[in-house]
Amino acid sequence: MNKTNFNTDVIIVGCGVSGLILSNLLKEKKVDHVVLDRVEKRKTLEIPETLPPSTLVLLESLNLLELFLKSSSKTFGYHSLWNSEILTTDSFFNHNPYKYGLKLNKKVLLNDLGELVTDHILPFNNLIEVLRSDKNVTVKVESDNGVKTINGRVIVDATGRNRAILKLLGVTTESFDNQIALSCYLPYFKHPQLIHRVFVETFENGWGIVSALNDEVNGMTLYTQKGSPILPQLKEYQNWKEVLSNTKILKDFLTDDLNPKVVGGNANSSRVSEITGSNWLAIGDAAIAFDPLSSHGNSNAIYCANLASNAIESRLTNVASASFQNYDDTLSQIFNEYLKQKTKLYDTDNRW
Ligand SMILES: Cc1cc2nc3c(=O)[nH]c(=O)nc-3n(C[C@H](O)[C@H](O)[C@H](O)COP(=O)(O)OP(=O)(O)OC[C@H]3O[C@@H](n4cnc5c(N)ncnc54)[C@H](O)[C@@H]3O)c2cc1C
Repeated sequence: MNKTNFNTDVIIVGCGVSGLILSNLLKEKKVDHVVLDRVEKRKTLEIPETLPPSTLVLLESLNLLELFLKSSSKTFGYHSLWNSEILTTDSFFNHNPYKYGLKLNKKVLLNDLGELVTDHILPFNNLIEVLRSDKNVTVKVESDNGVKTINGRVIVDATGRNRAILKLLGVTTESFDNQIALSCYLPYFKHPQLIHRVFVETFENGWGIVSALNDEVNGMTLYTQKGSPILPQLKEYQNWKEVLSNTKILKDFLTDDLNPKVVGGNANSSRVSEITGSNWLAIGDAAIAFDPLSSHGNSNAIYCANLASNAIESRLTNVASASFQNYDDTLSQIFNEYLKQKTKLYDTDNRW
């Protein structure tokens, strides 16, 4: 990794869940690879993200369950006021074999995943260029140790919704809505009507979720569409009380004493026009990005990394293998099915 010019089989760009799990799986398969980790991180708010019980089975099969459990807390269900005036509770108790989901501590999780593949991670400051032919990919980056040139056989975009490599390859993004998320931290409050520490409610032009980060902090995120009349109001916490005034429960989590910073970001459903090419593929959010309401994002990142590791292994041993096309087809099918479910779900609430 100290060399200024080197060859490898796979170049992964992006150190999120998808990129780091792919690296772990390729390491297990003894596939030569490097993970390019951009040193400068975008400032985002660490919000509590939930992993459903079904994903724990996949993690177990990948020998990653223990690692995830170490950095997460268990969650046993959630409440919602989505398509009815009556509070509904979804308990994970009926799920098998795991009767709980996980609330991820992303910072600790990414650190733990990264530690297992430190010898594969190359930090860089600036991506200078990506040159691709049907046989090879060359990536030039600027690092603290000077310019590095990496020649690979396959490149993987794991840069999330940023889709940094796909943009350079001229691959376009198709968006299916314009959802925006605005999040802030609030002091932890145990609502007397709720057992579980995750709650979702819709309101006019939007919906919101409150989820405990720990015993001291609740993360609250409000969602609306770009161009919605409430978007300018949601950018300032002082207006949240007014926007949530007609909610039954969500408004109870707000506090008058503080004025927390609101951090915004895209949370729309989108996919790329092509998920794979002759020697590149996209994984996680870079390939297909879900509405956070689905809690599918991290599960998809893990699932994609697993499928991609097998597709890459096949392709490296047999250039004529259809593994990339099969990977593309599988993800396209998943996304089409998701869009159908999403439409059904949003149709059940007529408040937004
Ligand atoms: C508000 C909100 C709430 C969510 N809640 C949930 C939830 O409860 N449950 C759930 O499962 N999912 C949730 N998600 C989705 C989940 O966060 C993502 O699906 C998941 O993080 C995707 O992982 P990834 O590795 O594909 O991408 P990311 O986690 O986005 O990782 C991409 C990595 O690439 C890096 N990168 C970006 N650009 C470059 C570049 N140019 N060069 C190099 N590196 C780059 C980034 O720094 C980052 O490290 C939520 C998302 C949002 C927005």
